[in-house]
Amino acid sequence: MNYKHFFLTVVSLVAITSCEKDKFDSTELQSQTVVEQTTNSKLQYVTVTDSGVLKDLNKLGFNITDFPVVEILNRADLNNGYILEGDLFVSKKQIESKLEKLTKEATNNTGNSAKRVGLFDGLLSVATCESVRNIRVKLDFEFSTRLQKRVDDLQAIAEERALTATEQQLLTETESRLLVARAVRFHIRRSIRQINRVENSFLNFELVVNRNEPADVNVELSDGIVINGTDLSRFAAVTSLPDDDGNINPLFIVNIPMARTFDPISFRNLLTHELLHTVGFAHVDNGFDFSIGIEGTPSTPNPRSIMHAALNPNLRITRSDRTAITEVFGTDNPNNICDLPRRVAITGTDPI
Ligand SMILES: [Zn+2]
Repeated sequence: MNYKHFFLTVVSLVAITSCEKDKFDSTELQSQTVVEQTTNSKLQYVTVTDSGVLKDLNKLGFNITDFPVVEILNRADLNNGYILEGDLFVSKKQIESKLEKLTKEATNNTGNSAKRVGLFDGLLSVATCESVRNIRVKLDFEFSTRLQKRVDDLQAIAEERALTATEQQLLTETESRLLVARAVRFHIRRSIRQINRVENSFLNFELVVNRNEPADVNVELSDGIVINGTDLSRFAAVTSLPDDDGNINPLFIVNIPMARTFDPISFRNLLTHELLHTVGFAHVDNGFDFSIGIEGTPSTPNPRSIMHAALNPNLRITRSDRTAITEVFGTDNPNNICDLPRRVAITGTDPI
């Protein structure tokens, strides 16, 4: 072997090795990016344990026993509030202003027969009559594209080398979520139809089909909610009630479950339930003796009301829900609650 030949052999060996290494590094890097992006896109919940905060929320009448109070860690736009009763996002500002008002009311009231009049004042406000005649709902147009890209990236890695257990699991889960994500439009249409079909009500939702069109409610899709480090693969959502002036809040996040845990009826119930939150309906099972949480609406909660905080496939828009809807947004109702001053008073007999 002459030196020249030896030298060329070494050079080509080095070239081959470094090429293999580059290939290896790039798939590693790609995998790391895919995994990181997935982790970041999930909502990171943490349970609130601050006893002062819990005491205040309890005082305001929220059910903090059956549902842990949580806050979201990884969303700058949502770190100013809490998620209550499973799916209601309430800002710290709203809580503070309500507490102030409550203190004032307590000073003015004597004895333990004080009504809960105005207890939720400012927290529970129904949308204005004007704003509910055509509520534009827009679905997150990019979500399925993002999931598809993740599947493509992982499959590209799989062509280079065997996937690790984590990558394989991520691929299976993403493919499974993609199936549900592609069906969301169909399900939200059905939910909207259910609400719009309630007779003698002008409450009307409409799904925006053009991505450039403005919307009143933006349905953001999420592919995972992690609570205290544990991934929840179940139905979950976050919605805001209307603000103090009755303006509809655009916040509406729905966790997309995996196809194998997917039950279309429960999912549709969840969407219907959240849509009704956006116009001001509260939970029927938060410990109070009134139905949909608004004065004038049926006072006995229907066990199958769609507004139960705990979701189950037997819920539906019941007769009492329909009555509540027409009480608030009824075409034949000259005293529509949505036309009354924005701060809806809740009456009850529990001592404050
Ligand atoms: Zn709810």
